[in-house]
Amino acid sequence: MIRHPEFAPGSVWLAGAGPGDPALLTLAALHAIETADVIVHDALVSGEILALAPAATVRIAAGKRAGGTQTPQWAIHEQLIAHARKGSRVLRLKGGDPFVFGRGGEECLALAAAGVAFRVIPGISAGIGATSAALVPITHRGIARSVAFATGEAGAEGADVDFRALGRAADTLVLYMARKHIGRIAAALIDGGRPSADPVAFVLDATTPREQVVHTTLGAAAGVALDLPPAATLVVIGAVAALGAVLARSEPAAHAASKRAAPAARRVGAAR
Ligand code: SAH
Repeated sequence: MIRHPEFAPGSVWLAGAGPGDPALLTLAALHAIETADVIVHDALVSGEILALAPAATVRIAAGKRAGGTQTPQWAIHEQLIAHARKGSRVLRLKGGDPFVFGRGGEECLALAAAGVAFRVIPGISAGIGATSAALVPITHRGIARSVAFATGEAGAEGADVDFRALGRAADTLVLYMARKHIGRIAAALIDGGRPSADPVAFVLDATTPREQVVHTTLGAAAGVALDLPPAATLVVIGAVAALGAVLARSEPAAHAASKRAAPAARRVGAAR
């Protein structure tokens, strides 16, 4: 029997909802979903997961989808604080892990400044869970001894990751929010010494029924990215990306078929 801490009225819990499949929620996150009065969730949190909350739970979308409606970060802070001050149990539910490219740290700072009690519940970040589910091992003996996680988005202040240096420092690169920037990133990586034949895997909507993995190379990645359907996408770069294609092909047929049935259908795109 699992003893959960008390979700006190007037407090805010920040929880990660994992990469998509509701079965990949933690027990702590599920408990929070079942107990909260108000859930303020990201666009990445699926309807299936929100449906686990009791009917009376207030659900507030505070999503940030590229190109879609944006809730400014300060407004999210104000909302969390206001609901907590009214005495609600407030759950801030985010895709993946709240502290991995999720602005969870900023929200905790705002709550602390307002004197609102908070707790953080980790989640399986897409860079770990989406990659494994898509059969891309991000480390592999003899192939990848190191992995770096980075965002492809340049900061508002123009601060970009030094991809020339990062490409030399880590064997595997797992890039969040990088798909529309892959041309610029690939050029910097190649400039820094990575071969243009370096394998690349685009992992789309992993652990959902729309899951797809598309394999290509660093040199061809920008062109391939243009043809991908809209989806939450991770870009995995390095030798393990090609290993993913090998594993997908060698998956025993019965197992692959059972996975296709529910929940995650997969298609391994041809390398270009
Ligand atoms: N806090 C989240 C990341 C939020 S940033 C986490 O820890 O996973 C949003 C980015 O995460 C997306 O642009 C995409 O790069 C990645 N992502 C999230 N879920 C994904 C999924 N199911 N499949 C592929 N990429 C995903």
